[in-house]
Amino acid sequence: MRSMPASILGSDVMEGQWSDGRSSRLRTVKVSRNGDWLQADTGDAGESIHDWPLAYIRISPRLGRTPRTLTLPDGGCIELADSPTLDEWFPRPPSRVEAFADWLERRKYAIAASALITVALIVGFLQYGLPWAALKIAERLPASVERSASNQVVKVLERFHLQPTELPDARQQALQSQFKRLVAGEPRADQMRLNLVNAAGIGPNAFALPDGRIYMTDQLVELAESDDELLAVLAHEAGHHVHRHGVRGAIEGSSVFVLAGLMLGDATGSSLAVSIPATLLSNGFSRDHEREADQYAFALLKRHGKSPRDFATLMARLMKAHGMEDVDGSVIGYLSTHPPSQERVRAAEAADASR
Ligand SMILES: [Zn+2]
Repeated sequence: MRSMPASILGSDVMEGQWSDGRSSRLRTVKVSRNGDWLQADTGDAGESIHDWPLAYIRISPRLGRTPRTLTLPDGGCIELADSPTLDEWFPRPPSRVEAFADWLERRKYAIAASALITVALIVGFLQYGLPWAALKIAERLPASVERSASNQVVKVLERFHLQPTELPDARQQALQSQFKRLVAGEPRADQMRLNLVNAAGIGPNAFALPDGRIYMTDQLVELAESDDELLAVLAHEAGHHVHRHGVRGAIEGSSVFVLAGLMLGDATGSSLAVSIPATLLSNGFSRDHEREADQYAFALLKRHGKSPRDFATLMARLMKAHGMEDVDGSVIGYLSTHPPSQERVRAAEAADASR
């Protein structure tokens, strides 16, 4: 009797299941090494030790924590738990494929985690990094890019027969001077110009071009019941200019290639000269930019002792007026950039309540 009790199994003695290859019977054996030989002890009385030369034993590749199989030269096999000891007994380097499969198996959680992190980074970049990069690029662009982009937008809008305003001179002067007082001292205020136009084809509307030109139609002036309502809308348009929404929107909508070009050297923004008017005319400003312009307007109005509620009342009236329905579909995006919405009316009322 030469079997050992399990309690004295050392790290160099392992328990395995041995099949002799002739019968289907599996026997529990204590596996150990003796010089260049592998020994299996069945614990039977009498002939309990079986051995085979290590050099003739094939070991199955390591695959995570799956058991290893030793294929014996006599056709039998021993299955046993993986252990570093087996690497000492069978020191052949695993093939690259085996090593990779093993690496994958052992790191599946780490790999899943890194995939999640990658997705989170991409989402984070789109959410925060891209708008940040767009702002940085927009701040560096020469004013000429904003100007030429704005000229192209105006060319398209002229299809709607923008006519000189028909407001009386005194009324025009009053609106102009109130607007100047409102934006005096604001960032980029020196580039802001109020253009009053008569545009029956557009209806009651106002819009900001990237270079600071702000258009307001006679039709909107007629719809308003007070100058403060008009100033509330102009404050919103000023917000688009202050925050460079025209340029930023085009950059945020650009392909990664255009973006890379802008970051790596296209300081003139030649690619943007085309994409700014295209983005503005087809998509208008993004919801985030509309919200930012609204918030800017509410703060500006409050600083001048005016109420954001004026914004809400004109919005509500615009909702009833359907002046934009006849507008050509191809530029509807831009001209509906100030779609009156309940959400924005509520935001204005909330801003008023917190005065
Ligand atoms: Zn807007």
